[in-house]
Amino acid sequence: MTLDINKIRADFPILKTTVNDKPLVYLDNAATTQKPQSVIDAITNYYMTFNSNIHRGTHHLSNLATEAHEAARKAVQDYINAEHDHEIVFTRGTTEAINLAAFSFGEAFVQSGDDVIVTEMEHHSNFVPWQMLCWRRGANFRVVPIDEDGELRLDILESLLSSRTRIVAFNHVSNSLGTVNPARKIIQMAHDAGAAVLVDAAQAVQHVEHDVQALDADFYAFSGHKMYGPTGIGVLYGKEKWLDVMPPYQGGGEMIDLVSAERTTYNSLPFKFEAGTPNIVGPIGMAAAIDYINALDFKDIMDHEDDVFEYGVQRLQEVDGLTLYGSAKHRTSILSFNVEGVHHYDLGTLLDTSGVAVRTGHHCTQPIMTSLGIEGNVRASLAVYNTKEDIDALIAAIHKSMSILGR
Ligand code: PMP
Repeated sequence: MTLDINKIRADFPILKTTVNDKPLVYLDNAATTQKPQSVIDAITNYYMTFNSNIHRGTHHLSNLATEAHEAARKAVQDYINAEHDHEIVFTRGTTEAINLAAFSFGEAFVQSGDDVIVTEMEHHSNFVPWQMLCWRRGANFRVVPIDEDGELRLDILESLLSSRTRIVAFNHVSNSLGTVNPARKIIQMAHDAGAAVLVDAAQAVQHVEHDVQALDADFYAFSGHKMYGPTGIGVLYGKEKWLDVMPPYQGGGEMIDLVSAERTTYNSLPFKFEAGTPNIVGPIGMAAAIDYINALDFKDIMDHEDDVFEYGVQRLQEVDGLTLYGSAKHRTSILSFNVEGVHHYDLGTLLDTSGVAVRTGHHCTQPIMTSLGIEGNVRASLAVYNTKEDIDALIAAIHKSMSILGR
């Protein structure tokens, strides 16, 4: 089976719009994806027909909202193949999910003199929370470098792992190089050393296989808005054995069992980690996004995205003076580049005049930029609705920008 991309594009209302009088060519999907009509409808329907607070009401609307919210948890559980639905903790996004894990895991398991390992290719949200944890606890913050292709130096990871290593945190897919890391192998290496693992799956759940049991990930973090769902909702998956013994991240309503001045006890999983009124509609929108993805064949999504990605690599390499960053053997969806003599910000601004939306800057990965010896670059990132015509439009817009700049 192959995907009917025209039909898919028709599902996303924003793709019919124009920018600067040009048809929108949306290539900023690693920052956030667009939303299909079904996700927009699920959100509208919630507010129009059963908006209510959850878990505590006895009335009809509250029951409907609670059921939809908890059904969404099951949809997420199925999507990532978690063993239990109570291993799915709803958060504000990947960033909050990792902060939660770093704080609560760190409180329980990281002591002075222990090691925490991250990599040089992490987004700041999978770097800084661990660094902050190490500063708080007096632990050692270790960073695995990348090689010139943009692949992790697994030999150095191996040499850093020891009985002092408490946790290894890495991204499955890099948001600035597109490198697909050998997640199963890294997890095995960490487990062999007795360390837990957090996988930052913000760029993985929508592009590559995402089975947490097959990976044997201890923690797995991702955002709804990068997989066609709404902003403000994300997930921390954690194995029950860890979540059970980790202390809460925030105190407040819902996360408690009994409260008194002398003693407070906590709610069962996952509610122990969900203090206060949560984002109720977020999971409902995210479940609609999951339904949307599930209605397609995931292998077809991967094949289509790989096809457009390969075409993008080939076309960009034909542009004079263009440097494409990252040449890992396994890459997906991210095309990061600079054109000689042009500031990335200027190029991004000129591309916008042609209706082409890309991201410019360091993409919240300053350690990678330092390792590449650049300040930033232009990033075109793909989603299921992108086509080779989008790549052609990008290339044409680059040439037009260069002629405006007199090059
Ligand atoms: N990790 C990676 C790899 C990302 O690409 C991003 C978003 N660019 C994040 C973490 C943070 O996600 P969010 O801003 O949705 O919390």
